This record gives sequence, structure tokens and C-alpha cells, in this order.
Amino acid sequence: MRDIYLLGATGSIGTQVCDIIRAHPEVFNLVTATAHTNIKQLREVINQFHPEYVSVGTHEAKRELQELFPNQEIGVGETGLIKAATYEGSDGLLVNAVVGSAGLMPTYQAVLKGRDIALANKETLVIGGDIIMPLVREKRISLLPIDSEHSALMMCLKNEPKESVTSLIITASGGSFRDKTRAELTGVTVQDALLHPNWSMGAKITIDSATMMNKGFEIIEAHHLFDVPYNRIQAVLHQESIVHGLVEFNDGSMLAHMGHPDMRVPINIALFYPKRIPYQAQQLDLTTLKKLQFDRVSTKRYPLFKLAIEAGKTGGITPTILNAANEVAVMLFLNGKITFLQIEEIVLECLNKFKQTKSLTIEYILETDEVVKDYVHKQYS
Ligand code: NDP
Ligand code: MG
Repeated sequence: MRDIYLLGATGSIGTQVCDIIRAHPEVFNLVTATAHTNIKQLREVINQFHPEYVSVGTHEAKRELQELFPNQEIGVGETGLIKAATYEGSDGLLVNAVVGSAGLMPTYQAVLKGRDIALANKETLVIGGDIIMPLVREKRISLLPIDSEHSALMMCLKNEPKESVTSLIITASGGSFRDKTRAELTGVTVQDALLHPNWSMGAKITIDSATMMNKGFEIIEAHHLFDVPYNRIQAVLHQESIVHGLVEFNDGSMLAHMGHPDMRVPINIALFYPKRIPYQAQQLDLTTLKKLQFDRVSTKRYPLFKLAIEAGKTGGITPTILNAANEVAVMLFLNGKITFLQIEEIVLECLNKFKQTKSLTIEYILETDEVVKDYVHKQYS
């Protein structure tokens, strides 16, 4: 049995992780689970898996839950998240499916504890990759991606000598507005933005896909995960979302990982690695595919894609500024406070306004995250 510590159990990834745990009761034991506000969904998780410890975002949510489960141990906020991530036990796996920078600290503490990690929370690596990955290597733990493109790259890189790898390529569907020109983005609605053509995901990543910030984040994520320089990682538009990642080798050949878009495939890979386990995914019938298209990503059409890669290359605190501004801007857009195009204006404004003042530490990342988020809230809420 493998113990699972699941952060973000109520989200899009978290509920799919729960389904997989439920399908393999002889393999996994859910020991801790967290939610932020969705008490209804967390109730289901408690009733089904009886975790030893759960945690929620607010004291009010805790009170509500405690009334329903008087004997359940319940934590709150960041302390609760960290406790859930580092909960006692030795051979377990942290599955971090929280959204946003809130995922960094629990990952960091779990790494310090020497716990293996399956990571959906890409923001951890976007803002903290320079600190997390050297620690992962020092502690000799495994940190496996759940993100589909990185899972695909990992499978293509498996058993290949590093020196034969020429470049990494990830694909982008183009998001909900891929058929619109920039001029047509003026006045688009939240509902339109949430209609992703190929994937069903949480609200924040769906908006990040529409702005293509997500693909910029994923280039930073790939850089940290696979220790490959930025000039050897690229993204291509691929509207069918069948090929998820490709690795190019020095003999001119490429390996690609393909399949219908289904996050349970990369989640299964991360949970069972290095084994592949049977899963009834929709079969890929090559004869009905007809064509797979690949195009360049236009940085004029998707300025946040470019800004993210530049922030990654600059490194230090810059990705934290980018991420914090984006996180609040996306939330304000979802709440109808700003327009879609203002997301990129706000990110650009913050990148110009805030600068690195000291060397990178976890504390400095958290402090900057808070300062930038406060600024955007005050200016635009
Ligand atoms: P969701 O919004 O669906 O779920 C987010 C989860 O995190 C929920 O359980 C939510 O709790 C919890 N949460 C939200 N805010 C906080 C906070 N401040 N502190 C602690 N917990 C919080 O997101 P997704 O599942 O879509 O995404 C999760 C992560 O996985 C993201 O980093 C995303 O980029 C990444 N990812 C997602 C993919 C997908 O297909 N969805 C694909 C690839 C990567 P509650 O529900 O109670 O509010
Ligand atoms: Mg992805």
C-alpha cells in the first residue's frame, strides 16, 4: 500500500486523483486531503476515504466541517496545507493539485522531509524551481510531473542518454480564443473564455490557456524539471491536442507521446511510475485522425507567452512577479472586475514596477508574492 497525501482534493485534478485511488484500493491509501472552500466535495472525500487528517482554507469552513465530523482532525490555512503535505509516514507520495503560489510552501516542506512528489501545481516550479529542484536532487527524491506535456516528455526521455537530447517540444491547443484575432479579444466574456476546446480543467488554468501564459509557465516548468536550457525548449500550436510532447535527438529522430486529451493518463503515470497500468482511455484510431497540424506560436498574438519565457530566462524573483500579477489578474477577470486584455496589461505593469532587490530565497519569493498581489488587488479590485 502506498500512502497518498493529496492537496487540492476538490479540484479538477484532485477529483480525478480520487477516482484513481478509488479504482485501486489495494494500492493506495488516502491519508490526508485538503480543500480551500468546497466543503461539500471534501465531505464526499471524507466519507469515501476516511483520511486521518484534512485541512481547509478558513476557520469558518473548519467549523462547518467539524460539526459534520466531530472526531475528524481538521487543519486550517497554510499551516494545515503543510501538515497535510508532511504528515507522518515514510514511504508515501505527496500529490500537489492546489492551484497557484499556495502550492509552493507545502512542496518545499515535503521536499525537505524527503517525500516523493507528484506535481500538478506548476506554479511551484515557475516561482520556486531554482530552489526546489537542487533540493530534490540533493535529497534524491522523485518529483514527477502531472502536467500532460511534461509527463509526455518524461516518457520520451525515459532511458535516453541526456547528451543525445537536442530539444524538447511541448504542444499548445491555443485555448478558447485560438480562432480570434487580437482585435476580436476586446470585450470577450468570462463564459467564452472558460470554454476550452479540448480540455476540461479548473477556471484559472483555462484562462491561462486562453492567454497562453500557461504555455509560458510550462516552458519554465520543463526547464526546471529536465534541466534543459531555454534555447532548447519550444512550444508549437497543435490544435488537435493529440501529441502532447516531443523530444528531438541528435540523430535527427524524434519521439512523441500521443493520446486523446485525458488527464487521467498523466495522473496514472505519475502515481504508478515506473509501471504503466491498464486504463480504459479512449482509443486513438490513427486511421480516423486524418491530420495533425503544428504551427508556430505568435508572440504578437500571445504576448503573455513571450513575457513568461523572458521572465523565466531572467530568473531570480521575476517569475514570482509575473505569476503573482497573473494570479490576481485572472481572478479579477473571472470576477468581472477587469477585461480579458487587462490581464496582460497588469502583468506587464508589475514586471516594470517590481524589481529584484536581494538574492532568491523561499522567504523572499513568498514576501514578493504577497506584495505584488496586494498591489494588484488595491489598484484593480
Ligand atoms: P481547480 O481550481 O479545479 O482546483 C484547485 C484546488 O486547489 C481545489 O481543491 C481548491 O479548493 C484548492 N485551492 C484553491 N485555492 C487554494 C488556496 N489558496 N490554498 C489552498 N488550496 C487552494 O484547479 P485544477 O485542478 O485545474 O489545477 C490544479 C493545478 O494543476 C494548477 O496548478 C494547474 O495549473 C495544474 N494543472 C491542471 C490541469 C487540469 O487539467 N486541470 C492540467 C495540468 C496542470 P476548493 O475547491 O475547495 O476551492
Ligand atoms: Mg499542460
